[in-house]
Amino acid sequence: MISLSYDEEEINIILDRYYESITQNRRFIINIEKLCQKYFACSFKKIVTLKPDEIGKFKTEFDNWDKRKIQAVRKRFKEISTISGKKSNYIVNTLFDKMPTDARNYIYELANTKTCPYCNRNYVDIVKDDEKNKYVSFFDLDHFYSKGNYPMLAVSAFNLIPTCPACNRIKGKKRLNYYPYDLSKKAGDSFNFTFNIVNAKLSSENDIDIDIVYNDSGIKKDKQGIYLKELYSNHKDVAIEVIQKARFQGMGYMNSLLTQLEDIFPDDKELYRMIYGNYLDEQDWNKRPLSKFTYDIAKETLAAYGIKI
Ligand SMILES: [Zn+2]
Repeated sequence: MISLSYDEEEINIILDRYYESITQNRRFIINIEKLCQKYFACSFKKIVTLKPDEIGKFKTEFDNWDKRKIQAVRKRFKEISTISGKKSNYIVNTLFDKMPTDARNYIYELANTKTCPYCNRNYVDIVKDDEKNKYVSFFDLDHFYSKGNYPMLAVSAFNLIPTCPACNRIKGKKRLNYYPYDLSKKAGDSFNFTFNIVNAKLSSENDIDIDIVYNDSGIKKDKQGIYLKELYSNHKDVAIEVIQKARFQGMGYMNSLLTQLEDIFPDDKELYRMIYGNYLDEQDWNKRPLSKFTYDIAKETLAAYGIKI
């Protein structure tokens, strides 16, 4: 799990554009609006544009309502009156399922990540098709709070997490404990990849086992739910490379290189990228796959040489 950060100032403009994009030319927004006013005393726009720190509170308050009222409100939001009195799960079937491509791009901009925040194994991408003047996205939008239980949040920007299709499918309707936008909990502190060397030669993938140590029981449950340990065991080849490079660094070879090429590798971050092909700082981990994995393996190996990263 990789944390997603956001800039409070910048997100307001993107959220406004996102709301405009998903609601333009939609005829029955007025009917959703009535329900929002009736049950939540706020506009639909407010619910769509809830900030990361507000969305959890909104959900918790709703959970605390009387059970029968919760059921009734869920039902109402799934049965929006549309043309000639027909009822439709309009937020999900129209606003979400037929979301314009530029709206998906706004979600992508908000998330500001290049990799899936659930697994950090796959890239999430979006490209512009200039000829057709639309975006083509290579990711799924996972509903962090399920659209079945929280239909009113089904297009709320910060309830939509750009994930790889594999994670979205495996996660399904499960509720995760860790919200990627929760700035109070850094992914880096909540679990660590570790390894056990079975054969010191490290000449084949059978010579090493990959494990995960958790400092947070909620994250543990999340990660087991998406089979993170098993998936990362497919990357033993990467782990072996990282260990070998870290040993090389630990033995001092990289430092002499750094001294000689000071202009090219001016600091630790650059040197780390050159050696491990990945990012050192946690805030950059979402830029490339396997970044936390690489960091944890390198850190553990280097610790044996008394080197801290
Ligand atoms: Zn994923």
